[in-house]
Amino acid sequence: MAQVSGRIASLAVSETLAMSQKSNELKAQGINVINLSVGEPDFFTPAHIKDAAKKAIDENFSFYTPVPGYLSLRQAICKKLEKENGLSYKPEQIICSNGAKQAVCNALLTVVDKGDEVIIPAPCWVSYIEMVKLAEGKSVVIRTGIEQDFKVTASQLEAAITPKTRALVLCSPSNPTGSIYSKEELKALADVLAKYPNIIIIADEIYEHINYLGKHESIAQFSEINDRVVIINGVSKAYAMTGWRLGWMAAPQWIASACNKLQGQYTSGASSISQKAAEAAYLGDQQCVEEMRQAFFRRRDLIVKLASEIEGFKINKPDGAFYLFPECSYYLGKSYNGRKIETSADLAMFLLEEGHVACVGGLAFEAPDYIRFSYATSDENIIEAMKRVKETLAKLK
Ligand code: PMP
Ligand code: GLU
Repeated sequence: MAQVSGRIASLAVSETLAMSQKSNELKAQGINVINLSVGEPDFFTPAHIKDAAKKAIDENFSFYTPVPGYLSLRQAICKKLEKENGLSYKPEQIICSNGAKQAVCNALLTVVDKGDEVIIPAPCWVSYIEMVKLAEGKSVVIRTGIEQDFKVTASQLEAAITPKTRALVLCSPSNPTGSIYSKEELKALADVLAKYPNIIIIADEIYEHINYLGKHESIAQFSEINDRVVIINGVSKAYAMTGWRLGWMAAPQWIASACNKLQGQYTSGASSISQKAAEAAYLGDQQCVEEMRQAFFRRRDLIVKLASEIEGFKINKPDGAFYLFPECSYYLGKSYNGRKIETSADLAMFLLEEGHVACVGGLAFEAPDYIRFSYATSDENIIEAMKRVKETLAKLK
């Protein structure tokens, strides 16, 4: 019988997107669900960026773009890297894609061969492991918990390295934990990586601008490894542009050239209109980024305060991104009305169906004792959602 390939059959559905879809289905049935599942800013794209897109349409930017993106956009990204990160890249080293998601996947497909190992510190974003599967690689997950602020140490990293290690995927600020590696912590990891010249470092910095500590630190700043770092970033989070699908990588030339070849066969250049909008985002006034950051900062404090009042939750104070990742094992094994909560995915489903709050169970992030709430929503929604979570969890005995 005709069937899908083993490659696709073995692929998990994106849990973040699936929970969000379930939440939307309940909403369509008239149920007042508060959606804290998917991670995307609730703000509208700033006006000057939308204007640039409208202008691009009127000026007929309607043709195929160069595969890696318009030169003007790649120049704008190089300027951003120079100005904000003190990093020097040539436009040929930048590849724009359909979101940072494609940029991560491009990088993995480009460097991972069948059986190669990719180190992924967990908790980790849902898609990394599935992308490694697509590349026929093997994920080597390093577990970290709330007691170490979910950050991998140099000795943990070194212990995970084998002759087959081909890449490390490091996300800071982190989805789903909000943890941020300090310059010293990154330096300690870089010192280990310097000893292993075959390892490519995929540094996912998509939450760069949602940082409550101060300056963003990139692992690409360390000269001993920076010829092996692939920076991943994009406009989705910083400029509230998730639907525009525009991300990019800044990479060593040989990786950028290989991704250019891959993308040329697979998707071609990203949307022309989104590229012109992203160019305006990078070259325009950055005040909008700061305003959104401040709103997330305020909401971080609000959700931390409210979630800390919920019995059984162990809370970390996230330093960036817009996720809270409480430890919730207190509730595993408890029941309500004959419904037993075995896993954090069960708990997320219980909160959705009984409490009408959508969130994501930790298993999808390789952290089964945790649960993720996205607080990229209004203060009112956060207050109401935490009230519902508290009341709903109190039913479990
Ligand atoms: N990396 C991380 C850690 C993410 O959370 C996401 C999802 N927003 C992405 C990459 C992909 O972002 P996008 O494709 O919207 O640019
Ligand atoms: N990255 C966001 C999240 O984790 C958006 C959904 C996705 O692409 O997975 O919720």
